[in-house]
Order: sequence, then structure tokens, then C-alpha cells
Amino acid sequence: MPTIHTDLPAVVLDCQDYGESDKIITFFCEDIGKLSGIAKGAHRSKKRFVNKLELFSFLLITYSRSTPGSLAVINDADLINSFITIRSSQSRYQAASVLREFILLATSEQLGDDNLLKLILWALHAIDKGSKHEIVIVQFLVKLFDCIGYRPDFSQCQGCGAIYKKKASAVFSPQASGLICASCISGGGYSGRQLSPGTIQMIAATQHQRLDKLSRVKLSDVILREALDSLYRYSRYIFHRDIQSWKTFLGGQ
Ligand SMILES: [Zn+2]
Repeated sequence: MPTIHTDLPAVVLDCQDYGESDKIITFFCEDIGKLSGIAKGAHRSKKRFVNKLELFSFLLITYSRSTPGSLAVINDADLINSFITIRSSQSRYQAASVLREFILLATSEQLGDDNLLKLILWALHAIDKGSKHEIVIVQFLVKLFDCIGYRPDFSQCQGCGAIYKKKASAVFSPQASGLICASCISGGGYSGRQLSPGTIQMIAATQHQRLDKLSRVKLSDVILREALDSLYRYSRYIFHRDIQSWKTFLGGQ
């Protein structure tokens, strides 16, 4: 007996043509995480799928499986938000593409995390309504590392355990997953990127802030550059690869 799941909140992360008339779609869904499924007749379907299976669209999907473990068949989709301005603006599209690449990389099939879906939707809304893209990406990455269990420690030195003193500079070490104080750096054995006090405080504050409380903060160019650079280095350390959309995103600002 096929199993049918109805009205599942889902964001489109990838869409590939399959044969002459079908598409393989990858979603991030409530409860179940990443899901790939086939949308049969998606090319010629006038009603069911038209303008719905675009990248970043937020949908309610209905899908079925003929047996456990078989490819999911997408039966229907209702559009909740197409995030139309993201697809009509090159810079917004580039920023959303960074989010998309990180989510595809950081998540696995059938591993649900509703905080992650909330984070994706929060970031898409922020980009859609014109928030400064670099700030959204910084806040998104800080929260993403939290969601996937890789929150770096910005409260104390990962070498000696000394509590971070406000207004002090420190080095962020991806390998140590947190800050390293000046005396541990001078003792050797650690390396990383020097961060100014403002950047450390901003990242630590973002870690503790609820998503709905993340305000439209204004950040200096120095803080933004330091935060983007250190978070990107950290992601390369965690995922062992480059993010293809990163250069286009930074180049397009
Ligand atoms: Zn130390």
C-alpha cells in the first residue's frame, strides 16, 4: 500500500529536469528534513505545478511512496510564498543561492529539524524584503551552525579556558571551534583569524538572540568583513569544501 503525506510545509532547494516531462525536486520539509521526489508531468502540467516548483518557493506538498524507501512521488503542491523579489533581483538571488548551497550541504535525507526550516524561512523573508544581504548571511550562518550542532564557543578561550573579556581582541580558530586568547596564541600551537571586539560581541549576541528578535542591525564594514571571512573559514573546515556560490555573492555586492 502506498503511503500518502499531505500538506507538508516545504521549501524548494533544487529542481532538475528528468526525462522529457518530469522533474526531480529537492525540498527541505517540516518534520522530515531534506526530501527528493519526482514530479511527474511537471513540464506540461498546467494546473498542478505551474510556477510552483521554482527555487526557494515555500509550498504545502502532498507526496506518496509506493513502498518504504522508494522514490517519493510529488502529487500536488500549494504555493504559500514564491519569494518573487528574490528571483527578480540578481543580488537577492545570489544571496539566497548561498543559503541554498549551505542547506543542501549541511542536511541529510530524512533528518528533520523544524528550527532549521524556521531559519530558512526567516532568511528568505529577510532577503525578500530587502535586508542587507551580508548581514542576513552572517546571522544565518551563526544560527545554522547552532542547528547542526557546530556552535563555536565565543565565551572562553578554547586553549586555557579563560573567560573572554569584553573589549578584548581574540583569534577565532576553526579547528578549535572557538576563540583563542592572546597568551595561548603567543604560546604557539593555535592559528586562526584575528577578530576585533565588536565582531566577537556581535556573533556571541546573535548566537543567543531568538530569530524573531534579530533586528535590522547596522554593522561596520570591518565587522561584516571579519564575520563573513571567519564564518566562511569555519564552514570550509566543517564541510571540507568550498561554497561555489560564495564568490559570486561577494562579487555581486
Ligand atoms: Zn587561552
